[in-house]
Amino acid sequence: MNSFTCKVCGGCCSGDGSVFLFPEDVTELAKNFSMPLQDFVSKYTDFILLEYSDDVFEFSYMPYLVLKKENDTCIFNLEKRCSIHAFKPFQCRSTPFVIEFFTNKKWRSFLKQHCPGLAGMTEKDFAQYRPLAEESRRKNKDYEILLRKNGFSLEKILDIKLPDPKIISVDD
Ligand code: SF4
Ligand code: SF4
Repeated sequence: MNSFTCKVCGGCCSGDGSVFLFPEDVTELAKNFSMPLQDFVSKYTDFILLEYSDDVFEFSYMPYLVLKKENDTCIFNLEKRCSIHAFKPFQCRSTPFVIEFFTNKKWRSFLKQHCPGLAGMTEKDFAQYRPLAEESRRKNKDYEILLRKNGFSLEKILDIKLPDPKIISVDD
């Protein structure tokens, strides 16, 4: 059975989209940079509110820290390679095996064309990564529960100060 090996090609580090961080990603990254949490967050992340529209009049906002980008590229992508590959955040470690990979044929076909790590892999090979996609779903759910318990305050959860958030729509 073929396993997935990220070729560290930088293909998923530029363009649309952001790297969303769970609190444990933020603390792990700060630890690996030997930086106080506040300093890491201020230097390398943006604070956003992700806007979901339920219908024309109903909106929900989820707070996230995302990795900063420069010239539309992740700040940690240096010379087209991930400079933090050994300890990159969960979203990057689980890419491309997010839940849509298993539920959206068009998305999977797009990724197969653009991610060199998927070359030569079969449907059977992909199946072994389903638990990773489920873990991603579970972590998102756990994050939502944590936010609810803390009044949707990332400042409270991480015990840091944050700037005013940028509002980003899921449709952007
Ligand atoms: S996940 Fe795929 S596209 Fe992204 S860096 Fe690794 S090999 Fe490249
Ligand atoms: S952390 Fe690494 S893999 Fe993730 S987007 Fe940034 S450069 Fe790419």
